Amino acid sequence: RWPERASRSGRSRLVVLAGPTAVGKGTVAAHIHEHHPEIHLSVSATTRPPRPGEIDGQHYFFVDDAEFDRLIDSGELLEHATVHNKYRYGTPRRPIEEALAAGRTVLLEIDLQGARQVRAAEPSATLVFLLPPSWDELVQRLIGRGTEGDEERARRLRTAKSELAAQHEFDFRVVNDDVAAAAREVVELVQAPPRPSSRA
Ligand code: 5GP
Repeated sequence: RWPERASRSGRSRLVVLAGPTAVGKGTVAAHIHEHHPEIHLSVSATTRPPRPGEIDGQHYFFVDDAEFDRLIDSGELLEHATVHNKYRYGTPRRPIEEALAAGRTVLLEIDLQGARQVRAAEPSATLVFLLPPSWDELVQRLIGRGTEGDEERARRLRTAKSELAAQHEFDFRVVNDDVAAAAREVVELVQAPPRPSSRA
């Protein structure tokens, strides 16, 4: 098992799941959502067009650039970032605050830039880094997914390399070699009894 950094976040119910491209963050988050409806899964806003089968308001809130600008300017996003140098993604603040106020655990599945912003905005957040079993496995998953062309894939792999180097900034690391097992591990980390903390 990976060593755990001493965490100041034992009481936190705001959980960030991040990790390199194609590691399976979305799949693990969806698995958690399905098996733990009590956990609130944040729905991001994005300027990316919907893929076939994606539903507005469920997978993302699909917005245009002007609306995304408006969300930023009005302070409605907890964090936002341009991912893979292309489309913008951001976490709506209000649903999260409401879920936390209702005592629910909130899960954000976002990129590394977003994870850092959440940590800065909300130091008590728990940051979980999802790791591939190996580098080769990550490359295979990206190829297998087949959603990117050669150039885009090469770019994502470069990003993934630098993202993997940031894993030590996280409170916990979970290896995704089996979706159900990884999801269970994340939930166990999140539902662990609160540790004594100086933070209220
Ligand atoms: P995709 O376009 O494949 O759904 O997502 C691309 C990337 O955007 C993923 O790495 C995902 O984690 C990230 N992402 C999705 N929503 C957000 C968000 O609200 N904020 C940030 N910073 N990244 C996000």
